Amino acid sequence: MDSVGVAAAAAPSPDAGPGPAWQSKCPWGTPNTTSISCSLADVMSEQLAKELQLEEENAAFPEVVAVAEGPFITGENTDTSSDLMLAQMLQMEFDREYDAQLRREEKKINGDSKVSISFENYRKVHPYDSDSSEDEVDWQDTRHDPYRADKPTTTPRRGFIGKGKDITTKHDEVVCGRKNTARMENFAPEFQVGDGIGMDLKLSNQVFNALKQHAYSEERRSARLHEKKEHSTAEKAVDPKTRLLLYKMVNAGMLETITGCISTGKESVVFHAYGGKSATEDKVIPPECAIKVFKTTLNEFKNRDKYIKDDYRFKDRFSKLNPRKIIRMWAEKEMHNLTRMQNAGIPCPQVVILKKHVLVMSFIGKDQIPAPKLKDVTLSSEDMKKAYYQTLSMMQQLCKECNLVHADLSEYNMLWHDGKVWLIDVSQSVEPTHPHGLEFLFRDCRNVAQFFQKGGVTEALNERELFNAVSGLNITADNEVDFQAEIEALEKMNEDHVQNHGKKLSTFSSDGDPPIYDE
Ligand code: ADP
Ligand code: MN
Repeated sequence: MDSVGVAAAAAPSPDAGPGPAWQSKCPWGTPNTTSISCSLADVMSEQLAKELQLEEENAAFPEVVAVAEGPFITGENTDTSSDLMLAQMLQMEFDREYDAQLRREEKKINGDSKVSISFENYRKVHPYDSDSSEDEVDWQDTRHDPYRADKPTTTPRRGFIGKGKDITTKHDEVVCGRKNTARMENFAPEFQVGDGIGMDLKLSNQVFNALKQHAYSEERRSARLHEKKEHSTAEKAVDPKTRLLLYKMVNAGMLETITGCISTGKESVVFHAYGGKSATEDKVIPPECAIKVFKTTLNEFKNRDKYIKDDYRFKDRFSKLNPRKIIRMWAEKEMHNLTRMQNAGIPCPQVVILKKHVLVMSFIGKDQIPAPKLKDVTLSSEDMKKAYYQTLSMMQQLCKECNLVHADLSEYNMLWHDGKVWLIDVSQSVEPTHPHGLEFLFRDCRNVAQFFQKGGVTEALNERELFNAVSGLNITADNEVDFQAEIEALEKMNEDHVQNHGKKLSTFSSDGDPPIYDE
């Protein structure tokens, strides 16, 4: 019997029913799966999340929190879950080997023939689900980043560049074609688009739209092929691989119990967990942790790439837009930024561990109740004033000591806990020299100034004064339009400087990086 025959006999055929192989003839007995998937499904339910959010919004008291009932991953059922996990991991491993064998067989049959037969429908792991270890950190390192133009080529707001006959509009075929080619990279990961940018391919809108349509139907086909509902790529917050990661953390004893979901956002889901014991003695795991899971859904992160792609710290690694890698980069960025802030003594969550797109940090709050956001808490005028001065000084520290601009600073990302303001949500934070760093800083200043002015802090600086106070710059324009123009001019100057003097060197070595959790 040939080797494919063996593999095919050992594995159930792809349409042999929904259950994985170990369920029918499991050498370890029959693990009780229902207890786990049920409660997790509850916790993950979009509807429940919405209800909880509504509840939170309607709550007169910030104490009413959106914590789901009952723990859904605990250390207590270690035995079952470790068998289950083992089985799942073995199954994954088996599926991958099976597919590799299938690919070899496919290659053998097709040889050099012009007409080829595809075995793809027989694969156990569809390309969309595969997340092989080769994929892990082998960042592309090309010297020329196609997303970073040598000269800025953005189409300005008025919709055209140039003068007279040399005018180029945003509808220009070449410009538009290149843009389409770049946008193509935003399709689902593993959707093979080839090296369009390298070839300077220019896609017409018609072709681009047809491809886009195809990419979406591929995505749906993938979901149909693997009808296990947990595999849904779009809706569920936590996919099986993420769940496995979380199980492992509980099994390793690092976390005691994952109690439930604190927040579901567009780009992340945050869980509460009780901390367990650390494997190493020098590291103490906080009694309560927050687990931020960056969503691995495929389309959410498209709009955020401007934060990371122009960040020279990540520049070399951003030559190919593979969403899965980018999502991990967000988690990594949040970790590094939190560590910098921690080192500067800014109140913020302390990083516990990073594993792929899952970041574990200390929980701001108590007894499963997260600290309220500044927008939800009613402070006395004295506390409000205190919060303002603290925010001002944190913004200065962030800029001067951490060399960071928060870039999403507002009453939504400031928590009130222990009589002070805590900063969270720094995955999008950038260095002030980022090509849009000062614009982001100005936006932060506007949010902060408006919040505290509305909150009745008469001493609060206006957004322009705050910007100068935080950045140490001295922009004198007395109206918003001129002020912003000066900011953009400064950014441009800095950009030219960077381009003329080569890219800046930067390392994370001084961050004292926390350990990366290892299997
Ligand atoms: P998002 O990108 O979804 O806004 P955040 O980091 O702001 O992600 O987290 C979402 C919410 O989860 C926050 O508004 C906050 O209520 C809660 N949260 C996040 N991190 C923590 C933490 N370390 N401790 C307590 N609550 C947290
Ligand atoms: Mn947030």
